[in-house]
Amino acid sequence: MTAFPQGTILGYPRIGRRRELKKAVEAFWAGRSDLVALEQTAADLRAASRERLASLGLGRTDSAIPESFSYYDQVHDAAVTVGAIPTRFDNLRETDGSIGLPAYFTIARGEGERAALEMTKWFDSNYHYLVPEIGPETTFSLSSDRVVRQVEEAVAAGFVTRPVIVGPVTLLALAKASDAAPEGFDPLSRLDDLVPVYVELLARLRAAGAEWVQLDEPALVSESLPASAEQLADAAARALAVIGGAASRPSILVAAPYAALDASLAVLAAAPIEAIAIDLVRGSVPAAVEGLADKVLVGGVIDGHNIWRGDLAGAFDKLEALGALGAAQVAASTSTSLLHVPHDVTDESKLDERLASWLAFADQKVEQVVALARGLGSGRQAIQAELDAASAALADRSNAPGVRDGAVRSRELADGDFSRVSYAEREAAQAEALGLPALPLTTIGSFPQTGDIRRARAQYIRGELSQDDYDTFLRREVDTVVELQEDLGLDVLVHGEPERNDMVQYFAENLSGFSVTENGWVQSYGSRATRPSILWGDVSRPAPITVGWSVYAQSKTAKHMKGMLTGPVTILAWSFVRDDQPLGETANQVALALRDEITDLEAAGIAIIQVDEPALRELLPLKKSDQAAYLNWSVNSFRLATGGAAAATQVHTHLCYSEFGVVIDAIRALDADVTSIEAARSRMGVVTDIAEVGFDHGIGPGVYDIHSPRVPTVDEIESLLRRAVDELPTRQLWINPDCGLKTRGYDETTESLRNIVEATRRVREDISVTA
Ligand code: GLN
Ligand code: ZN
Repeated sequence: MTAFPQGTILGYPRIGRRRELKKAVEAFWAGRSDLVALEQTAADLRAASRERLASLGLGRTDSAIPESFSYYDQVHDAAVTVGAIPTRFDNLRETDGSIGLPAYFTIARGEGERAALEMTKWFDSNYHYLVPEIGPETTFSLSSDRVVRQVEEAVAAGFVTRPVIVGPVTLLALAKASDAAPEGFDPLSRLDDLVPVYVELLARLRAAGAEWVQLDEPALVSESLPASAEQLADAAARALAVIGGAASRPSILVAAPYAALDASLAVLAAAPIEAIAIDLVRGSVPAAVEGLADKVLVGGVIDGHNIWRGDLAGAFDKLEALGALGAAQVAASTSTSLLHVPHDVTDESKLDERLASWLAFADQKVEQVVALARGLGSGRQAIQAELDAASAALADRSNAPGVRDGAVRSRELADGDFSRVSYAEREAAQAEALGLPALPLTTIGSFPQTGDIRRARAQYIRGELSQDDYDTFLRREVDTVVELQEDLGLDVLVHGEPERNDMVQYFAENLSGFSVTENGWVQSYGSRATRPSILWGDVSRPAPITVGWSVYAQSKTAKHMKGMLTGPVTILAWSFVRDDQPLGETANQVALALRDEITDLEAAGIAIIQVDEPALRELLPLKKSDQAAYLNWSVNSFRLATGGAAAATQVHTHLCYSEFGVVIDAIRALDADVTSIEAARSRMGVVTDIAEVGFDHGIGPGVYDIHSPRVPTVDEIESLLRRAVDELPTRQLWINPDCGLKTRGYDETTESLRNIVEATRRVREDISVTA
């Protein structure tokens, strides 16, 4: 086996420090540039990343630098590499069967009637991957040599890098059965057919000059996949026996990030591979297992998920503890790929200097790994200065003003703060106060964020539009949205959220304890990136946030105007959150700020208030044993936020998915008066689940799939409504789209809403006849 470097990272951001890849890819999609230009930009980015990583201290020729570039998504990369694409895209293959870059994008994004691959969350991160579709008909064959060419490209530039590829078990475990597959088909059953392609790929990588390859197998840590931990471990043993036994291959590192490896560690230790990377941020140092004596253990001690500089001395302690397990070698690494953090803190010129000194983005984390590696080689005293500096920053952080705010901490919580009066009492009070028709019509909150809105916001941020002019612009926008809803005949109106760039950042900008970045972009999916806020201190609300907008919008209509807030769990999930106290404590601080906002909205005459929690499901821990505690604090924080609302105030919540099953008890426990969910894509299938579990509060199953530009017809919506009315009592039902309308255009939105109103009118007619 070739020696493994003392320090490495599991992956590096690929979007570019200024989102160069996004711009290049979108220009190509729009036909503003050609393939050659796009490939050149990507090659330049890869070259810049290699040089940058080398200058930060990773070795040029010892495989320390990961070759982890992706044009869109690493799961899609692996699927395309092994040829696992849906048959509906088969005609996009070249005559030799290979799949080129334009085809790769088309499969990712869909084309006309041919649906794109579905997208879903990557483990417990905020990154979304493309779900491969695999069935008995899928043919596996090496269909793209892109990763091989990248290794060659690196060699030509004087580097020996370590290609990173999603491994066969994770690829299949994350896949869904293709449309053609029979009922109950399990993609994992295709493992033996897939593995030979990996063998072939590894031989090609070896020939191209790769000395190490990294196979990412995070499926091995998850207890939230359809396959059980035992099935996944068995699959890994089978696959690695073949891949590891191949005649010509690089040395193999199997990485299992995002949680503890548990029993699967023994399986990897027994496999014919050379190195194992484990997550020591989420998991603790494991007990020794058989088979480690000839393995490299790569300790993921630097948090790849979060942006804190953290406890470097503690990280080194973990590496020393790892050394006691009897492995051939220990190396320092990040816990996950750095794809979840922005590039570089030094790109933030406006961030408070003291706050910046507590942070580590990707480049700073690389420096931390390099320091730890030096410590492993030369002993702790060689890096004492670095360890001490990190400890000093940590101590500074714990004592800094705002991190602990006496006024926030002295707010006492009583049990009663988490509960409202009984639902029956609330239902009666609300029926009397609100006077809503049967099957009330509403929307989820946002209306289209037009080019005009984005332009005005950009001008305002650049100082080209005064506060007054911007406010006037936004008020006109609200006027239009209110008028449109009046014309359409909706029952509960919204103001449209034109003032919000993003449903979390908007609150972060208006609460104490948060900071926002200039260049802190993190890939969300494909060419999309978000800029999470940093929640670093105790959270409080210096002044009302949404009240002015809600009151203004309410003044424009005699109908009810819905107040619109983002819930505590979602605010945490889509921010970088402080790691120095339990998440539940932080969530309760956010909840108290929202609680005050609700009090103010009520006092200003807003009778219906929605608190969105689309992220409730996504933060669910991967390990079953952690889930109950999570659901407990997350639900409680929502209840604390809403628990002060009067009986007659109607509290709504919105969740963005229809996988009700796992979290149904939690949704019930939120005790919102009305919950809107996605249902259009499942053709209302979720209504059956809701009826089965006896959920008896208000429910708004979506009738319009806002992810698609398609306008649903009146008949189509009517049939969805009839299915809902058949399965659930009318008094429970609300009519709304699946989610907010901000990504849609006005034409399709107006037409779709008009069809929803008409379909509702038809169904209401029948109800009043039968009533
Ligand atoms: N109120 C938000 C909107 O309509 C909710 C969006 C979401 O749940 N993702 O945009
Ligand atoms: Zn939603």
